[in-house]
Amino acid sequence: MNYIGKVYRPPSEARSLILQATVGCSHNKCTFCHMYKDDDFRIRKLPDILADLEEMAKLRYPYKRLFIADGDALVLPTNTLIAIIEKAKEVLPYLERIGIYASPTSIRIKSDEDLKLLKEHGLDIAYLGLESGDDVVLENVCKGSTSQEILRGAQRLKDAGILLSVTLISGLGGKERLKEHALHSAQVLSEMDPDYLGLLTLHIEASTPIYKQVTDGSLTLLSPMEVLEELDILINHLNVTNTIFRSNHASNYWALAGTLPQDKEKLLLEVEKARSGLLESRSEWMRAL
Ligand code: SF4
Repeated sequence: MNYIGKVYRPPSEARSLILQATVGCSHNKCTFCHMYKDDDFRIRKLPDILADLEEMAKLRYPYKRLFIADGDALVLPTNTLIAIIEKAKEVLPYLERIGIYASPTSIRIKSDEDLKLLKEHGLDIAYLGLESGDDVVLENVCKGSTSQEILRGAQRLKDAGILLSVTLISGLGGKERLKEHALHSAQVLSEMDPDYLGLLTLHIEASTPIYKQVTDGSLTLLSPMEVLEELDILINHLNVTNTIFRSNHASNYWALAGTLPQDKEKLLLEVEKARSGLLESRSEWMRAL
């Protein structure tokens, strides 16, 4: 397998075969993100991608999941994605799930028929970064899309039958927009009604543009107690029908898990326990993005 640069994947794809179909991220402008700053976005040649799959198949490891990377691999032409999916199904006989990173832009360039076709061929789950439901925050971090554009993309994925996993970043609005970030995110997520919701906590890398905002005082990072205050507001205002919630990413102070709405009280109790110091948190030095 020929990986170019650093390769990232969602926490739930830890045991998956990571197939690099694109290099970097087609947007690559979010001020908090350091992931693909060293890589110019490009699409790898299909024969090279298929050769990687064939090479991995020779290991005869019973991979159950395949994750198509990098940052926004849904941007690939539909025919290319189908060729990758079909080859994966052919050479990895134990495959149960295929996932991919998506963005509002990569969803927008796909027709409803394209998305349905991808689902029919075996694309099971897409990971989409909402980051915040607050448009002021989204603009501040140069997300490049509004909350309504991200919501629309999410709804189209769901309409095509593709499982939707959404990420939100705690603390992204700083102290300045703690309440707006929590409330507007809860509102957008309630409309989105994702299958999975993954919570990350803002963790600043010195190489990112947002670092400057922290050092010049225009963005104030949340303390762990303020992270809990924000989480309390978020969970209290979430109105979803069946969403698996996780905060098991390395950036989080506390790893919480539950299914909403049925575990709402349990999760709020955990937040309360954490606020009272009864739940041990991850040390600052152990956190990472
Ligand atoms: S957060 Fe996602 S969309 Fe934004 S630059 Fe990073 S990889 Fe690209």
